[in-house]
Amino acid sequence: MSVRIKFLSKLFRGIYLFSMLCALCSAFCICAANAECDIRGVEKDAPVLCGVAAQGGFLYGELDENWNVYGGDEKISMNGIFVMGLDRDMPEFLQMRFCKSSGRALFGKDSCEVFTYKIKQRTYGEQKITVAKEFDELSPKDQKRADAESAMVQKARARAINLDATGFLDMELPDNLKPQRISGVFGTGRIVNGNPRRPHYGVDIASPRGTKVGAVADGIVIVASDMFYSGNTVIVSHGHGITTSYLHMDGMNVKAGDVVTRGDKVGVVGSTGRSTGPHLHLGAHWRNVAIDPQLVISFGEKI
Ligand SMILES: [Zn+2]
Repeated sequence: MSVRIKFLSKLFRGIYLFSMLCALCSAFCICAANAECDIRGVEKDAPVLCGVAAQGGFLYGELDENWNVYGGDEKISMNGIFVMGLDRDMPEFLQMRFCKSSGRALFGKDSCEVFTYKIKQRTYGEQKITVAKEFDELSPKDQKRADAESAMVQKARARAINLDATGFLDMELPDNLKPQRISGVFGTGRIVNGNPRRPHYGVDIASPRGTKVGAVADGIVIVASDMFYSGNTVIVSHGHGITTSYLHMDGMNVKAGDVVTRGDKVGVVGSTGRSTGPHLHLGAHWRNVAIDPQLVISFGEKI
């Protein structure tokens, strides 16, 4: 059995064509600016996927109807297009199961084939930061608030499936943020006031207070809220479980439910919430898996 897979390919901004054969893909495809369709499996006949095969990256492609793909035990294909985020600590070998549906609901048996993809392993640094005591040792009231906000965000991300949207294929940092200094990278272990805390799941872009923050791709705003840790926070859904988040802003220009196009102002750079100075914390997720903005969003140059 060979898996038939077709690929999202992009000829130029805004126009997507669908090439039919994976065997031709690497020769024909021009993918999203930040990704390539040249990810080959360990097995020779494994489908060639698009994306970035590294911890913090993502894989995607499009399957013919009646095919499904599973990453681990989870079905990750929806209406043909599938995306899988690769978390910070993803092991070196990822197995994906491609199944052809028999078309019979009760007694039919899907035929499946498993292929293995090698995921580049990365090393992450460690950073010591000092924050005001009330942001490290939370009062019961603040703890309750932070927990409720975290649950709300997780729920919003889990719901952000949005099958019709493909903004995630074309994510790019707005021009006015490109020359700014990167002051924090994805994955860094964090020692906060001397205690180990969860790693840094985003990229910090040091920019003057008031700098315009534009959405990195077309999408729908799913969260626009003032939160304990992240201050004024906007989260935009770009389709198929991919979201981007904009944290610590001084102001917000959108509300949940708003439709945005790439570059639309969602807020301005600030230092609200637990922040050590004006900067934009830009995050990216697949469902609730944090992925690396510098790998999945085009920053205008290879970093
Ligand atoms: Zn940050």
